[in-house]
Amino acid sequence: MPTGHKNPPAKGMQAKLQRLGLARREDLILHLPLRYEDNTRLVPIADAIAAMGGAQVEGEVTDCQVLFRPRRQLVAQVVDASGALTVRFLHFYPNQQTLLEPGRRVRLAGEIRDGYFGPEMVHPRIRVVTAGDPLPQTLTPVYPATAGLSQSTLQKRIAAALCEGAPLADTLPPEWLAEQDLPDFWSAVRTLHAPPADIPRAPLAEQRHPAWRRIKLDELLAQQISMRRAYRAHRALGAPALDKPDDLAQKLIAALPFALTSAQERVTAEIRADLARPHPMQRLLQGDVGAGKTLVAALAACRAIASGWQAAFMAPTEILAEQHYLKLKGWLEPLGVQVAWLTGGMKGKARRAELQTARTAGLVVGTHALIQAGVDFERLGLAIIDEQHRFGVRQRLALQHKGRLPHQLMMSATPIPRTLAMSHYADLDISVLDELPPGRTPVRTRLAKAARRDAVMTWMQSGLLEGRQAYWVCPLIEESETLELQTALETFDWLRQSLPEITTGIIHGRMKAAEKQAVMAAFAAGEIRLLVATTVIEVGVDVPNASLMVIEHAERFGLSQLHQLRGRIGRGTSMGICVLLYAEPISEMARARLKIIYENADGFEIARRDLALRGPGEFIGSRQSGLPLLRYADLERDTDLVELARAWADALISQWPEAADAHLARWLGGKTELLKA
Ligand code: ADP
Ligand code: MG
Repeated sequence: MPTGHKNPPAKGMQAKLQRLGLARREDLILHLPLRYEDNTRLVPIADAIAAMGGAQVEGEVTDCQVLFRPRRQLVAQVVDASGALTVRFLHFYPNQQTLLEPGRRVRLAGEIRDGYFGPEMVHPRIRVVTAGDPLPQTLTPVYPATAGLSQSTLQKRIAAALCEGAPLADTLPPEWLAEQDLPDFWSAVRTLHAPPADIPRAPLAEQRHPAWRRIKLDELLAQQISMRRAYRAHRALGAPALDKPDDLAQKLIAALPFALTSAQERVTAEIRADLARPHPMQRLLQGDVGAGKTLVAALAACRAIASGWQAAFMAPTEILAEQHYLKLKGWLEPLGVQVAWLTGGMKGKARRAELQTARTAGLVVGTHALIQAGVDFERLGLAIIDEQHRFGVRQRLALQHKGRLPHQLMMSATPIPRTLAMSHYADLDISVLDELPPGRTPVRTRLAKAARRDAVMTWMQSGLLEGRQAYWVCPLIEESETLELQTALETFDWLRQSLPEITTGIIHGRMKAAEKQAVMAAFAAGEIRLLVATTVIEVGVDVPNASLMVIEHAERFGLSQLHQLRGRIGRGTSMGICVLLYAEPISEMARARLKIIYENADGFEIARRDLALRGPGEFIGSRQSGLPLLRYADLERDTDLVELARAWADALISQWPEAADAHLARWLGGKTELLKA
């Protein structure tokens, strides 16, 4: 059967195309230009010289020589009826010398500038032509390339992919497109590969042209379809329906010294409805630091326990897990619920007892210890994961596998902007806790140069003497844990010597769990007034009386980390003050980021600005679920398209599953498997 390929690509060429991900015809068609060159017009040489800047000219080569002035270079003269132009190549290949043989007629495209020997074009693109050769009618695409693959090869292959064979059918209904003023797929890709000369240039360059919007939408749609399918597949599985009446939760609420915030009531209702269904919940609870996520989780656990199932609560650090344990035990044991604590540090008999308790306890709290081999739950119905971004996908799955598809509640205090969440967490349901409990006084933030460290210490001393408690957070030293520890110990000594009247403690990652617990307990009880800490206190720690904080080398921390740290002192009734010490010189970026933290108290707003500053790649870190990277769409700029893609993905999956398949195949090809990770 004839394939339509006159010259099947050479082996080496195929490998290079593969490296760009261009294995199929569709891949070539979806390999879109980075920018364009305008070769649709010719300018007389004299005019081009008068105007300077970019131009295309045509003329005859009158001279071409390799000169040494002083470096070896190729210099040619090209002449038309209006004037002459010098062409210079500082590096060149023999074939360029051949193209510029005297007597040839050439088209040159490039920048004209004023050189040492008069106006010249350096490294122009050259095309040998005969007089009267027609000019292209369309802009010339410049593609993302790879070493050894020239633009002209890519241009030819892609043009061939467009011409040889039938147009690729649209995967979207024409009515939908018409409603959004979007072009059909085939005309969008043709426009983008070969824009007509009269196309509005700015929308094209800025990727706002409807053809670009169509392609970005398609790309986002592919992402949404794959993730929404994964979501639906999961939701179709069976799970225990946790649907017994809410007596236990009601008892807990009645016993609390405060009322739920309306946000807590709302998300609790969302979770309750979800748990009652015989399909596994996959929900992410987002809420700013201090919004009261633990209580929401406790109420969900009550639901599970009252329905005759167990709940497991996993936290990323020992300190945090223990705090949760103590808090949850305080809430639930009086209601007759057995709350177990799993450390993983136990041995022998004690370990066996621990495992035995965990097997049947209503609620089991712990760190990664929960997912270790040998830990078994008889009836795990709900897996709660606190600070979910601190866990890898595999760890979250491991907890799930400790039961027969338990419901999952993940919690995060790293709020991410709505569109980013829609894109990256499209396979989850999201609940947002967007209200802080009443009576919190916002933390005041101050910036100070590191040179003022002594003065800051003196200021802190007076606060401590008034009866406040404080954290002194040591710099993050990513490359060396040893150095980080050393710095913390030095700071501890310095503070102890400078403030002999203050009981000072230290907590860091190298301490044994029991030591950390003892220190945290002493700090919570007010015996330790000043706590020197590495970032082990970053997440979740809750000591309401602590209202002062100093963070050294604040410029080294991520914004969400700073926000979380600062959140440690916004918990009591006295106004928290957080001093961010920064070392000079400070980069523009670091300055901009500290400004964001300084000016904003709302975690979502901080996240939004952080995203704008850094872009989603760095922002989200690695979610490592095989989420395809977006090549064209931009989550920050194309927010409207993200929302449209979500709506259309759900509609397509339900109404035209074959079209959804075709769409995925076009965009992800063989890569769809990745998404099932
Ligand atoms: P986070 O959302 O950061 O995990 P926590 O669950 O640790 O926040 O809650 C912070 C503090 O607020 C805790 O001391 C918690 O008991 C308290 N809290 C939670 N809900 C309320 C409420 N509705 N009213 C008052 N305090 C609350
Ligand atoms: Mg928390």
